[in-house]
Amino acid sequence: MLCEKCGSQLNDNSRFCPNCGAPIPGEEQNVTTTSTYEGPMGNPTPVLVWGILGLSFATIPYINFLGLIFSIIGLSKAKKYAEFTGGACSKQASIGRGLSIAGIIVGAIFTLIFTIVIIGLVAASSRYY
Ligand SMILES: [Zn+2]
Repeated sequence: MLCEKCGSQLNDNSRFCPNCGAPIPGEEQNVTTTSTYEGPMGNPTPVLVWGILGLSFATIPYINFLGLIFSIIGLSKAKKYAEFTGGACSKQASIGRGLSIAGIIVGAIFTLIFTIVIIGLVAASSRYY
């Protein structure tokens, strides 16, 4: 059995394509039941988008904390996506998850460094007053 959307090989038991997250049409009843759960959670793209945003913002001075926040969102999206697909992880979702983890680490380090720098600058400038 092949995915209608991306043409990748599918397990007969799976309800969603492990590659693109497209729902797999089965029995009519199953399709209607699963379609109510269909939504952004079944789409791995937000995981990737939040992951990229997270890692990008994590390296920008003064707003590194935004990267940290976006990465945490990306990681939670990845977790929800993995739960939704029953552990099957798409390439997009796993890349997004990796980027999110990297974003959290980078964001945390940069936030810490800039906090220290800002505290240092404030402490240094206050000596002159
Ligand atoms: Zn597919």
